[in-house]
Amino acid sequence: MSLAPPDLVLVRYGELALKGGNRRNFERQLARNIKDVVRPIASSVVRREHGRLVVVPARRVEQVARRVSEVFGVKSASLAWSVEANAEAITQLSRELLNDALSDVPESRTVTFRVRVKRADKNFPVQSNALERQVADAILPGPERVTVKLKDPELELGIDIRQEGTYIFLARLRGPGGLPVGTQGRALCLLSGGIDSPVAAWLTMRRGCQLGFVSFHSYPYIGEASKKKVADLARRLGRWQRRAALYVVPFTEIQVAIRDAAPESYRTVLYRRMMQRIASELAEQQGYQALVTGECLGQVASQTLENIACIGAAADLPVLRPLLGHDKEDTIAIAREIGTFEISCIPQPDCCTVFQPSRPIIKGRIDECERAEALMDVGGLVRRAIDGIETIALEGE
Ligand code: ATP
Ligand code: MG
Repeated sequence: MSLAPPDLVLVRYGELALKGGNRRNFERQLARNIKDVVRPIASSVVRREHGRLVVVPARRVEQVARRVSEVFGVKSASLAWSVEANAEAITQLSRELLNDALSDVPESRTVTFRVRVKRADKNFPVQSNALERQVADAILPGPERVTVKLKDPELELGIDIRQEGTYIFLARLRGPGGLPVGTQGRALCLLSGGIDSPVAAWLTMRRGCQLGFVSFHSYPYIGEASKKKVADLARRLGRWQRRAALYVVPFTEIQVAIRDAAPESYRTVLYRRMMQRIASELAEQQGYQALVTGECLGQVASQTLENIACIGAAADLPVLRPLLGHDKEDTIAIAREIGTFEISCIPQPDCCTVFQPSRPIIKGRIDECERAEALMDVGGLVRRAIDGIETIALEGE
């Protein structure tokens, strides 16, 4: 007899510290985010059952489970079968599931296995331990094929008995953890076409922050293709936050003004200070509470502590720098995993290469920055840049 397809997805979430209203908020947002990402795959009902979520899709349950297992806040997800709450029905389905799992394993190999019962519904007449033994005894095909191992078995059959239903499952898909996007406010990420800022964005989203993206472009020095590259990165990040705004800021006038008024070695730091000012103002207009950058201490000349101080001093909002403690390899590993690396590696110039100084300042000084800026119409430059913003509404994959 062939096994019926699973009918639902069990979703577990972590974050031990969740309490009271915080927990309700977490659960509600997670349910909303899950519904949102599975909608294009199949219409689904998402139920809260104390301590976890149950997703019941109308079809394509396996695809739904895989997608759910990528959502921030999810610790793990399992394809599950619902069954009548009696020992006979449970045993019958457990046997079918085990046999199905073994059909992929060569006959000659012995598989370690255990049954784990969770009995939240105490009305169920058999105790957890007793039921574990009873089911295992009834379904084990023989010691050469399967041996029981209680710690870290290769195969674990879970049986959850609850008032709302009894569910059986075999495997767990690991989720990314973190907090559901939308539970920790909104931030604006300065997104370049590089490797770092998309990873910084991803890490911030994983902590529950909803993001908008801002990118600075120097047309005609930098072509349209680099704008498309940034949009592709932001769209890729849409896998974790389906909708986002990308603000593209015209930066050429500012770069020309800095070139004409400031010492050459300070150009890069001054570009960055203008980026912080514009991003701060835009964030205030659009209701973002913090900025995010891909800065990392000591990685390049512009990222010494002195220069980070000069740059950060121009921001009016807290600046989050989630990569600060990363080695480049850590960041690249994440970039590969989340699928931004390939896009970031497409060669495209960044606006910071325009009029790039031959010897950039390593230990910038804030008073020097301010002295150079006093020769420019900073307010007017910022206002015109903001007026020229092109807003792109992105819909994730
Ligand atoms: P990335 O790989 O993100 O470009 P990086 O290591 O190359 O980072 P920098 O180029 O010095 O470092 O940039 C530092 C940070 O400044 C970036 O991570 C990004 O947050 C921001 N930034 C730099 N250039 C731009 C730009 N053109 N548009 C938006 N943000 C930018
Ligand atoms: Mg860069």
